[in-house]
Amino acid sequence: MAESTLSPVFDAQKVTVIYVLGGPGAGKGTQCGRLVETFGFCHLSAGDLLREEQNRDGSEYGELIRGCIQEGAIVPSTVTMKLLENAMTEELEKRTGDGWTDGEGRFLIDGFPRKMDQALGFDETVCLAALVIFFNTSEEVMRERLLKRAKTSGREDDNVETIIKRFRTYNEQTMPVIEYYKTQGKLAEINGTGSIEEVNRLASAAVRELFS
Ligand code: ADP
Ligand code: AMP
Repeated sequence: MAESTLSPVFDAQKVTVIYVLGGPGAGKGTQCGRLVETFGFCHLSAGDLLREEQNRDGSEYGELIRGCIQEGAIVPSTVTMKLLENAMTEELEKRTGDGWTDGEGRFLIDGFPRKMDQALGFDETVCLAALVIFFNTSEEVMRERLLKRAKTSGREDDNVETIIKRFRTYNEQTMPVIEYYKTQGKLAEINGTGSIEEVNRLASAAVRELFS
């Protein structure tokens, strides 16, 4: 059989990709914000990119994305992966400074990969991830955080009914991804239950180890 001739769009020797996983409301976005300040990452949230695309005039995927988000379901992987690849290309073209010279870059990809096909597909065709940070906490903590966030987020999926569906999707589709990266020795599991500061200290230590 012929060998695969696919090679990733970005060279992992130059472009560092860290996937950031955890259940809905685990604190991924919050912690990414902190890590951006310390390490000069570009933070790309799959959910934010999908919401932006959903609201873009003339998008052919707007209705599809809206339906998936309302149901707490995974948006088809080709759409999500293309949005991420485009955003990476754009950032690499425009950004300069520490960690961003001569084609180098560093990305936190938040809420991705949420499903095995995304994990294998992105690693193989876009960029091989260096590390996977997993913020682990209980459903009880996540539910409480999401319901608090719901008061101000304006997000259509921050409601009790959709939160239950999001937890189910996470357990059924994303947990296998986390298990997979654990077997690959790429998982940094962080206890996400403490204060924002406490969790940040643990996550920063994992990133520092990668860059050391
Ligand atoms: P995710 O991106 O994983 O969905 P967020 O970062 O948006 O989660 O966090 C969900 C909510 O919980 C937000 O309102 C955020 O301010 C809050 N939050 C995040 N981390 C913590 C924490 N360690 N302790 C308490 N609240 C937190
Ligand atoms: P988030 O902003 O991470 O809470 O994601 C909100 C919603 O966007 C999810 O419930 C999914 O419907 C969709 N979504 C986010 N990330 C992905 C992804 N990697 N693949 C497919 N759909 C996603």
